[in-house]
Amino acid sequence: MTDRPAAAKSHQPDPHVRRILERAELEGVELVRFLYADHGGVIRGKAASRSRLAERLTTGIGHTVAMMAMNMLDQLQEVEHMGPVGEVRIVPDPATYVPLPHAPGAAAMLSDLRRLDGSPWDACPRTFLKDAVAELATEGYTLVAAFEPEFTLGRRLPDPAGGPDRLVPIDDSLCYAGTGFDTAHDYTIKLVRALETQGLRVEHYHPELGPGQQELSVRHAAALRAADNHVLYRETVRGVAMRMAMWATLAPKPLAGQAGNGAHLHLSLWDDTHNVFADGGEVLECFIGGLLAHLPALTALTCGSVNSFRRLSPRAWSSAYAVHGPDNREAAVRICSPLGETGEPNLELKPSDSSANPYLSLGAVIHAGLDGIRRKLDPGESVDVDPDTRPGRYQRLPASLDEALDALEADEMLMEALGPLRRTAYLAVKRSEAVAFSGMDPSYELFHHMRVF
Ligand code: GLU
Ligand code: MG
Repeated sequence: MTDRPAAAKSHQPDPHVRRILERAELEGVELVRFLYADHGGVIRGKAASRSRLAERLTTGIGHTVAMMAMNMLDQLQEVEHMGPVGEVRIVPDPATYVPLPHAPGAAAMLSDLRRLDGSPWDACPRTFLKDAVAELATEGYTLVAAFEPEFTLGRRLPDPAGGPDRLVPIDDSLCYAGTGFDTAHDYTIKLVRALETQGLRVEHYHPELGPGQQELSVRHAAALRAADNHVLYRETVRGVAMRMAMWATLAPKPLAGQAGNGAHLHLSLWDDTHNVFADGGEVLECFIGGLLAHLPALTALTCGSVNSFRRLSPRAWSSAYAVHGPDNREAAVRICSPLGETGEPNLELKPSDSSANPYLSLGAVIHAGLDGIRRKLDPGESVDVDPDTRPGRYQRLPASLDEALDALEADEMLMEALGPLRRTAYLAVKRSEAVAFSGMDPSYELFHHMRVF
């Protein structure tokens, strides 16, 4: 991806811009959505019409700074420098243009939030990830990642008792069951085609454990592309469902008492020549050490919503303890055995879901792993049993968003990495969500998470 604040000032016709304009015309695109993810984990944006596109690709679209102080209920929080005065620009990355198959006539571009002089704004989440990638490169490494998302497919129906709308799952098929493939078939085929058209390579699909629950994974990519992919994935899962008069949600725990929706994060670390996790030596150990040392704080970013913490319970295969183990699906960090001889060894971070801002989440994961490498942090014992069978022996993950935010505030390294403006706004937004849902009926929390994620 290129960093191109100076593009507006250049007199050279930018080849990326020319190519996008040609494509938009050829593909009948009328609106191009400039998308970003906010501190509430919500994907938002503004769209440029085709007639203004040439200009807007370089100038971006004007936006109020206040939107990064908005929580997932559209309640604006009081954050200094994020009030009614002040502007940023939503500036799209030219390498990310894709027409949206589920929204004919529209395309999307993943965007940075920039100051008026074109430099990155301190609260831009995509810049946070880019900076983390650059920091990792100073040690000679590149992170390759993939989100492995689950979601629930159903229909949105009014509550007969007058409460918030409910999600009625598409089926009650069993986990990996043949009938589940068929009930969701028309939807899944459309979804696969829509993702592939956008350049996301679909790996695997299966009907998951819970009612209407689906899992569809896409191929790994360099960190920034993986986060961009996850934004497109979330939009597509929901967009395809809407076009079919269905409702799909990636909310972490949309149905009380049923399986949660994770977005496990798969990670491998590369030097110039190879995947260093394949060596199984010190770098792998230390990277895990870093993840585990920062895990309570990390969950405030990787499991970003109030609803996230309903998912992280023991014996739900979502992980509830800060431990690691080979192919241990109850460990927060699972060391995955590679598929076949060409498969790549990778780590799977289980406390991760789709209510997180993927740029902040992945950026924070990089900082944690890097800290482990730099300080040679010990990952502790490798756990080859369900950690819940050894009461009191292992550290539990935070039980609520507030607990995770307390850990984040106490984590000097992550607070420093986030920087003053971003951390102040993130904490204000997330603390406000914890307050907004506390004491409310669970159906209120479930509805609002399904509405957004
Ligand atoms: N649904 C589980 C979760 O919430 C994951 C199940 C699995 O794929 O192992 O993370
Ligand atoms: Mg699964």
